[in-house]
Amino acid sequence: MTSLDRPHLFIAGEWVPSSGSSSIEVENPATEEVIAHVPAGTASDVDRAVAAARDAFDGWAATPMAERGAVLDRLHTALSARADEVAKTVGLELGTPLKVAKAVQAGLPLTVLRGYADLAARGSAAEQIGNSLIEREPVGVVGAITPWNYPLHQVVAKVAAALAAGCTVVLKPSELTPLVAYLLMDAAVEAGVPAGVLNMVTGTGPVVGAAIAGHPGVDMVSFTGSTATGKAIAHAAADRIAKVALELGGKSANVILEDADVTKAVKVGVGNAFLNSGQTCTAWTRMLVHRSHYDEAVSLAAKTASGYSVGDPFDEGTRLGPLVSGAQRARVRGFVERASARLVAGGLDAPVPAAGHFVAPTVFADVDPDSELAQEEIFGPVLSIIPFGDDDEAVAIANNSRYGLAGGVWGSPERALAVARRMRTGAVDVNGGAFNPFAPFGGYKQSGVGRELGEYGLDEFRQVKAIQR
Ligand code: NAD
Repeated sequence: MTSLDRPHLFIAGEWVPSSGSSSIEVENPATEEVIAHVPAGTASDVDRAVAAARDAFDGWAATPMAERGAVLDRLHTALSARADEVAKTVGLELGTPLKVAKAVQAGLPLTVLRGYADLAARGSAAEQIGNSLIEREPVGVVGAITPWNYPLHQVVAKVAAALAAGCTVVLKPSELTPLVAYLLMDAAVEAGVPAGVLNMVTGTGPVVGAAIAGHPGVDMVSFTGSTATGKAIAHAAADRIAKVALELGGKSANVILEDADVTKAVKVGVGNAFLNSGQTCTAWTRMLVHRSHYDEAVSLAAKTASGYSVGDPFDEGTRLGPLVSGAQRARVRGFVERASARLVAGGLDAPVPAAGHFVAPTVFADVDPDSELAQEEIFGPVLSIIPFGDDDEAVAIANNSRYGLAGGVWGSPERALAVARRMRTGAVDVNGGAFNPFAPFGGYKQSGVGRELGEYGLDEFRQVKAIQR
């Protein structure tokens, strides 16, 4: 037992015990100590949660959108009051350094929630096409299954949009980082989110996740996580033709053209690749550099990476925290061990704290674009640098991936924009263009299906009806 234990599930507006008796240990990855326990939910817990969400659906769907917006507004107020606790909790269960935890892990979900409260408050106008009235209606009961790397943002991106659209939700947060989702449920209680509109069953993927994905009472499964799990979920949903939205992995390219500001492009690029210890689906893990700048870029990237301070997430000076788990660390070390490129920073022997799941920021140069290092999502602080000769070759290497989530291009504005347009990904940042939490977010190819965030994210949770008159 620890003071952070959360022994209940949240179903039909109540804190209730699981029908099973097992619990899941939540670890602090920086110390390897068990900091809390949460219930290992069961398939019958999922049945109860789906029944609650079904019961609440008609009433919530019929609630005017602006009123749903008012509920989201209260939820935003209640979550804002917990912002410091959110940052601290994510620091404890994931190991994100405090500064980033405050700005991204706590700040971003609040921005997204604020946006959906505002969007819903504006209501939804019906559209007319000839003699047809076009209405947008909620899809129904949504099963939301989320990963551990941005554990509140990924939950809020689904929950806020689904609730704004008039859907009810059964959430399963990652078993590695479930604590921060409890803070959202606490906020929902305080905000008076109607009973059954938002439910949460904690547990493992193969038990609770699979029960949600295959449940006949779930109309849509919104999933963020690995491509392998996304495929399993899509198969389960296909049996009943349930809608799926999938936000999956990535292997994004940061393309540094001949006329780029190389210093800025490399520094920002390394920062992007190593954000959250490289556990970011959009991470620019392949740095593609024009041959004329290649040596300069390699040495600057190596120097930048070597300057990162690795350690305690709660130490103000720390830039790189641990990986989320021992399994993730072992997986990342495996990629580094098998790599056949030129190691220019970090590696397996670079010093890291003895306790905790740390991997030193690692940079490889001369990486073969077809190699495992350049093709597989590593999800750790490992950057691959690849040279190219001209823009066509840069585009070909960037698109040589089964993923298509994000990317960056640096160069003169028109030339960089032309390259950005040719990249087969859902997003590209030109010359460091800032992440926009209201722009559509999602992947091409095996990076996913559907879009999250902003109006596009709202539409994902709606059906379109044509009424002829
Ligand atoms: P994961 O696929 O192992 O787990 C994600 C969630 O799915 C967890 O809640 C897990 O319990 C659940 N799950 C596991 N097996 C399941 C099953 N058989 N049925 C139903 N649910 C199941 O992924 P992860 O390791 O938690 O997260 C890392 C991965 O997520 C990376 O590949 C990363 O790229 C990807 N990711 C993508 C995005 C995006 O928006 N595109 C965002 C973050 C993470």
